[in-house]
Amino acid sequence: MLNIILFGPPGSGKGTQAAILKEKYGLEHISTGDLLREERTQKTPLGLEAQRFMEQGLLVPDAVVIGMIGNKLDEKLAQVNGFIFDGFPRTVAQAQALDQLLADKHTAIKGVLALQVSEDELLKRLLQRGLTSGREDDRDAEVIRKRISVYNNSTIPVLDHYGAMGKSLCVNGEGSIEDISSALSHAINSLG
Ligand code: ADP
Repeated sequence: MLNIILFGPPGSGKGTQAAILKEKYGLEHISTGDLLREERTQKTPLGLEAQRFMEQGLLVPDAVVIGMIGNKLDEKLAQVNGFIFDGFPRTVAQAQALDQLLADKHTAIKGVLALQVSEDELLKRLLQRGLTSGREDDRDAEVIRKRISVYNNSTIPVLDHYGAMGKSLCVNGEGSIEDISSALSHAINSLG
């Protein structure tokens, strides 16, 4: 299976690029942000709990997110060539849980593609997205800064986790959508 993690800070273009790569490689796209927003819209207990964290730019507790991913993997595994994970794992505990869930299913992460974007560019993109996305967490510069600082403190260590296994690759996340997706494809094709 081709299981890939698309990694990067909020606003680095993971969702946009995942949609392109999903088509190109026939992968199932799993975005924890989208799954959580869906739960919230449906006002499930999980969605209502998640809401309290999301609106402050904080991470939803690991156990909640890991349970949600476990269900999704069970549901889709038999039907797909692989998964592209977007916005997950966001902590080392989530990465360890994902590795175990995949190992139980006799598969593993093949590579982590990390989009590199400067902090000024992220802030600009997210505030711009906030004008049209309907996402409260994109409208408030303080919440955006919080999300970027949570990324730097809690999520960057995930890159080291996979880097130690020789699985992390960095890709320039600034430029045209096409240039970035072709750089990501090169990186995917270079995975063993
Ligand atoms: P972005 O990458 O732009 O911050 P996402 O849609 O990936 O947007 O995430 C939105 C919010 O959902 C996050 O700020 C966080 O509160 C929550 N969230 C998404 N994925 C996770 C995760 N893997 N672990 C914990 N919280 C998450």
